[in-house]
Amino acid sequence: QVRKALTKTRQALNTDIRDLFKSEGRLVDDEFLQELFARLIRTDMGVTSAEAVRDDIGKRFRARVVHLDDILESITQQTQQMLSQESTEIQFAESGPTVILVVGVNGSGKTTSIGKLAYHLHSAGHKVVLGAGDTFRAAAVQQLTVWAGRIGCEIVTGKHEADPASVAFQTVEKAVEIGADVAIIDTAGRLQTQTNLMQQLDKIRRVIGKKIESAPHEVLLVLDATAGQNAISQARGFSDAAGCTGIVLAKLDGSAKGGVIVPIREQFQLPVKFVGLGEGIEDIATFDSASFAKALFQ
Ligand code: GDP
Repeated sequence: QVRKALTKTRQALNTDIRDLFKSEGRLVDDEFLQELFARLIRTDMGVTSAEAVRDDIGKRFRARVVHLDDILESITQQTQQMLSQESTEIQFAESGPTVILVVGVNGSGKTTSIGKLAYHLHSAGHKVVLGAGDTFRAAAVQQLTVWAGRIGCEIVTGKHEADPASVAFQTVEKAVEIGADVAIIDTAGRLQTQTNLMQQLDKIRRVIGKKIESAPHEVLLVLDATAGQNAISQARGFSDAAGCTGIVLAKLDGSAKGGVIVPIREQFQLPVKFVGLGEGIEDIATFDSASFAKALFQ
């Protein structure tokens, strides 16, 4: 599934790097390393990472004649190291429902990711409740209600423009009441009112903490893989203020620049917990650095 989603990135990169090898193999010298660097940059993997990969290849192969496969293997290994992280698992509560807040800029794929995540957990045998905390976007509430219907799980909604914190609280209350294992709560994502938004997230945290002291157990930040590095940097405000615990990288299938995950890992210092691989209910996967690095380059 991940391989398939990364087809665009892999093909673009493969063709690009294969171009460096017109004849049988190629001498690794400054010129080669420079050309390789330029191509790595095009995957959106970021300057620091591309430099690291280039220098590693320089160290290993300088003045030798190499083949495409040697280089791809080497890049894959380096990238895997850069992407390795401790845990991609959801941190479940020790007892009672696990509360997951989902934050992110509008349009990033937040609602869809919640639907897919809910289905993923539901399929693993967890009883799930959704909370439509983005009360200012009627479309988001509707969309989430449709997902709940498809999955067959409960959803808590509030009136239009109701206090998101009260919806969040009711969602947690509902989860306790029906003995649910997981509550997944949507939040608003209008960046233009960022200060308010942060206050709102703060209030949500405080309010649900009153019901379950250890909650929220996860705060997942949804990022759009097609948005490019600038848009992703914007989301930093979120991660700093919202106390995020992990990333969901959505729309990886639509991106020819899947390498963006490398600077994301660097910039955010957060584990990537899930990747979004399409618009369907099953199009989500837990993140694994080894298979990801391989799918990127080989
Ligand atoms: P929100 O505004 O952040 O809640 O974003 P939505 O969940 O409404 O998603 C915005 C658009 O991106 C919709 O058209 C989704 O179908 C699409 N989308 C979300 N996740 C993915 C994904 O992983 N892959 C693809 N191809 N599209 C996605």
